[in-house]
Amino acid sequence: MQDTCRLCGGSHTFVRYRLGNHTVRRCRDCAFMWLTPVPTPEELRAVYGEGYFANDHFMSGQDSDIYGYYDYLAERFDRQSGYVDFLREVRSGGFTGGEKPARLLDIGCGFGFLLDVAQDEGFQVEGVEFNERVVATAKAKYSFPIYCGDVADFPGKGYDVITMFDVIEHVLDPFAVIEKCCSMVRVGGLVVIVTMDSDSPVSLLFGKRLEDFRRVREHLTFWTRRSIGRLLEERGFGVKRIRYYGHTFKLGFLAKRVSMCSAALGWLPAKAVAAFGIADVRIRLNPLTKMMVLAVRER
Ligand SMILES: [Zn+2]
Repeated sequence: MQDTCRLCGGSHTFVRYRLGNHTVRRCRDCAFMWLTPVPTPEELRAVYGEGYFANDHFMSGQDSDIYGYYDYLAERFDRQSGYVDFLREVRSGGFTGGEKPARLLDIGCGFGFLLDVAQDEGFQVEGVEFNERVVATAKAKYSFPIYCGDVADFPGKGYDVITMFDVIEHVLDPFAVIEKCCSMVRVGGLVVIVTMDSDSPVSLLFGKRLEDFRRVREHLTFWTRRSIGRLLEERGFGVKRIRYYGHTFKLGFLAKRVSMCSAALGWLPAKAVAAFGIADVRIRLNPLTKMMVLAVRER
């Protein structure tokens, strides 16, 4: 039943947003949110095809149906600069234990950007990625192991740290993925999840105009501090920290992204960027929509 809550089993659910032919439902009891109807496996395979990481239509922003990235490879250094601080926080936070290099597994590792930085920071790294084309590109560049396939079939165990950046909202069965994480990370080890906080003040302000909701071909579940806490705590984890996670943006790209949420709000930044010729200037910004959850396996 697509109107029964998969997180708490409750039936007090309602339509929070309508996006074209899709709806985002929300559970009144636990705040879990999910997309209906769920795309078919064929539709999901199609969206993660050739154009996913370089989607020419991404910036058109005219309808609710956006997916993928405008130019993911071009964002490499901006993404990687954000990983350094987080990895040092993990290392200095006592999460990695022992003298040996901590073993880190990145689920949905894509082109290996995070693993590249983590290796430089002294972690022993491995990745899981289902997109064969992406894995081939990453393997041509890096020597660390990347398992190509579904994380459900991945045999690795005993990791100190498991990371999932912008992954949990994409998977058909996030409950199984968290249970699998529990079997792969050692007791006392860390799982790090980055995803949208659907109940952040900024998320509530933009509502369904927010890019995360408009990705109706790929975002299947939506999380809040409360629901992600419940997901983790019911599956053996203790949540240690939740904070907002920022990103480095080029100003020109940022102005266009704001315009995609709200043409009125984006008009002035777009004009200013053009007038001052600052489209390529980079800034570190925390839009207070994305949360980073750090949870430790307790049992
Ligand atoms: Zn619920």
